[in-house]
This record gives sequence, structure tokens and C-alpha cells, in this order.
Amino acid sequence: PRICVVGSGPAGFYTAQHILKHHGGAQVDIYEKLPVPFGLVRFGVAPDHPEVKNVINTFTQTARSERCAYYGNVTVGRDVMVAELQQAYHAVVLSYGAEDNRVLGIPGENLSGVYSARAFVGWYNGLPENRDLKPDLSCETAVILGHGNVALDIARILLSPLHLLRKTDITDCSLAALACSKVKRVWLVGRRGPLQVAFTIKELREMINLPGTRPVLNPADFTGLENAVKDAPRPRKRLTELMIKTALEKPAEAQGVQAAAPQEWGLKFQRSPEEVLPTADGTRARGIRVALTHLEVRGSVGTGTALAGLAMEQDAMQPLGISPKTALTRTGSQEGPQPHAGLSLAAPCACAGLYCSGWVKRGPTGVIITTMNDSFDTAQSVLEDLQVGTLDVATSREGFGAVKSILCSRGVRPVSFSDWEKIDAAEVARGKAAGKPREKIVDPQEMLRVIGH
Ligand code: FAD
Repeated sequence: PRICVVGSGPAGFYTAQHILKHHGGAQVDIYEKLPVPFGLVRFGVAPDHPEVKNVINTFTQTARSERCAYYGNVTVGRDVMVAELQQAYHAVVLSYGAEDNRVLGIPGENLSGVYSARAFVGWYNGLPENRDLKPDLSCETAVILGHGNVALDIARILLSPLHLLRKTDITDCSLAALACSKVKRVWLVGRRGPLQVAFTIKELREMINLPGTRPVLNPADFTGLENAVKDAPRPRKRLTELMIKTALEKPAEAQGVQAAAPQEWGLKFQRSPEEVLPTADGTRARGIRVALTHLEVRGSVGTGTALAGLAMEQDAMQPLGISPKTALTRTGSQEGPQPHAGLSLAAPCACAGLYCSGWVKRGPTGVIITTMNDSFDTAQSVLEDLQVGTLDVATSREGFGAVKSILCSRGVRPVSFSDWEKIDAAEVARGKAAGKPREKIVDPQEMLRVIGH
């Protein structure tokens, strides 16, 4: 059977891995819109968490399998349609992640100085579409909306000493911008309370111990919580206890360096964003007005204002909205290369052979392990459908042979995995000079130049 996977993030690679491992005759082709693979492992995971990126070694092994092929620089829905892939393959698995398209729906959110967390992360991680974000870091206070690990990642990058970041694969241009940053205070604002925070203890501890920065937690926010978490599951209990300990610690008890730290960060609970306030000339964000919320009673009981020049909306991501039983189509004519009109949802799919895995399926929640398990499930469905004959493999399919002609007629030249390995080597070489693991190439045209396209 010829199977096609759309997207080369963890979902795409884990789906491919499982199918290849459990079906000795399957050929899996992975299509990716960027020249470079690995999705959010490259463009989401924080640069100072290199150990998380070790999964790339497993993905590389999968890609090097002789029954697996990688075709980068191919945007499905623009360069080739899902329907065309379905004709070329026995099964198509959609693993193209979640788009950044959620809005807060509050006045002022489009002001300059307000960024989606995804764009900000994409900027410091070298995601081509965000490379020109140029966030304004000339203010002293930043507000991040959200209490998850991504919010902590951003706070940590904003406040980390430069000498620590310099050893990571953070892009040169973001390092230069951070070197001029005036941000010295970061508030993480959440709609709910301390018992509902979504970050994990490792990331919290890292933030608490960040050199040159001290945590500012209000002890009153934690009153009575020790009792409340007595019987809670262990991870929640430990996380809450660490917040309580940090909140109650007097500066003198904190480590010497920490007490005198010039920078600070803190958690603000039960605050719902109401409005981003503009500067007098109306050109950029100057602060954010939040409503205090009760957890039991929905609605606000008052408002307060935080002054900040930089605001970030975490959770600003949504899946393009696909479920296993839905098909992707592209709006407009399907002839010839065209600007990407976006993939949109169509009516429930009548045909067998279309699957999805990862954030496409579940939305933007969960870590790489969750995505792995989910992708193994999807791969298992494909294998079972092959076994019981739901997927008809009696008719042979041409696979990439058919897609190659389509791409060629549209002037699209795919990037192979060995091409990627050349880009990889070029990045590592550039990084070496600066003592970094790699210097990412952020311009797709330059990536293509490196491989002689
Ligand atoms: P993605 O990783 O987004 O991959 C989707 C791929 O599809 C991308 O390569 C994309 O370019 C491609 N694509 C999109 N559209 C098309 C198209 N039309 N045609 C072809 N290809 C397409 N998890 C952890 O375990 N540890 C962490 O430290 C961690 N940090 C994170 C930090 C951030 C900022 C974010 C957002 C997530 C983080 N995660 C982390 C979660 C983890 O990244 C996700 O669980 C995982 O990446 C989801 O995998 P996916 O393959 O579904 O999506």
C-alpha cells in the first residue's frame, strides 16, 4: 500500500513510523509545506530546551527508511490538492497541525505591541512567516495572557540572561532584539485560579530559579489552598505547593542573588482581558484592562488596569477544524499554482482512506508524547483498515510518481530529506562559528539556494 502523510511534525512522523514498523510492505510519503521538517519541534519548542528536540533523531531514522520519502516545499491545498493525493495513494493521513487563527475578540487587540504567542514563538524560533515580526521590546512590562507552558516559555525567553540564550539555537536577529530589550517585568495573567494553571512543575521551577529574576506571587492568592490540594493528584499537589512556598518565601529567605534581582515576574489570577488600551496617539498598546472574575459565578465583579507595552495572547491557536470524518478542499479553482487560499472544511467525507492525527485532530493541546500516542492510534486504524479490506489495495496507486507530474506542471520543486540534511549541515556550520548548536536559516529562498534549487 502507498500511504501519504500531510505534515512533518511529530504527528506526521509518528504516524509514518508506526505504519512502517507494523506493515513490512507499506511505502509512506510525507509532504511538508516548508522546505524543512519537524513542525513545532523546530519552530515551537523553546530554544533553551534542546533535550526535547532529541525526538528529531527518531524522526530522522524514519525518514531515512527506504520505504519512507520526504517531500518538503509542497503546500497541500495549493500545490497539490487532497483529492489529487487521494487518487495517487491508497490512504491519506492529514497531520498538518493547528493554525494560529483565534482572536480574543476584545477592543484594541490589533494594536501594535500585541502579538499572538504563536507568532512571538515563531519569531524567536526562526519560523519563516514570523521572521519579520520585530516585536517592540522598548517597554518595561510585558503581559502574557495564559497560564500554560508556552506562556512560561515566552516569559523565560524575555527575561533570560543573554549569555544563556547565546548557547541555544535561538535566531541571531531575535538575540539582537533581546539584547536591546527594556522588558524587566512580566505578568502572566490567567482567567482562572492557582488550582487551574496548566503549566507543569519543571517549567515553573525553571522560572523560579531564573538568574537575575525574582518571582512575585501574592500569598493571598493561595490562602487555604494547601488543604484544598491535600487529596489532589500528586502532580497538581506538588505544583500548588511549590507556588505556595514561593509566594510565602520572604526575599531574605530567597537565594541572595534572587532577592536583589533586577527583573521580576508574577502570576495574576482570575482576570479576564477586557480591552487593550491604546497610547494617547492611538498607535500602540499601553496597557490592558482586565475584569476580576469569580470561579463559581461567571462574570466580572470589577475591573483593574495593568500597564504594559507588550501583550501576548497565549492559547491563540486553533486547529483548522478537521475531524476524522471530514475532508479538506481548497476554495476556488483547482487548476494551476495559486496563492494559498487556505484549507477549509468541507462536508463529511464519503470516501474511505482519509485520516488525521495530532493537533489537526485534537486541537492544540498536549505535548509531543500525547501527539505520539494519538498518531499511533491513527496509524493503527490505517493498518486495521488495510487488514480488513476497508482500504482497497487491489488497484495499484502510483504514489509520488503521479504527484511528481502534478507538481512539475505547476512549477513546484520538492525538497528531499537528503536536501534537508544539506540545509541542516549548513545551519550547524553557521552556528559553530558563534558557539551555537545551529544558526537557523529563516528565509525559505535561502534554504533553497543552499541546496541549489
Ligand atoms: P505540528 O508540529 O504543528 O506539525 C504540523 C506540520 O504540518 C508542520 O511542519 C507544518 O509546516 C505542516 N503543514 C501545515 N500545513 C500544511 C500544508 N497545507 N501542507 C503541507 N504541510 C503542512 N511539546 C513538548 O512535548 N515539549 C515542549 O517543550 C513543547 N513546547 C511547545 C512550544 C510551543 C510554542 C508549542 C506551540 C507547542 C509545544 N509543544 C511541546 C507541543 C508539541 O509541539 C505538539 O504536541 C506537536 O508539535 C503537535 O504535532 P503536530 O504534528 O500535530 O503539529
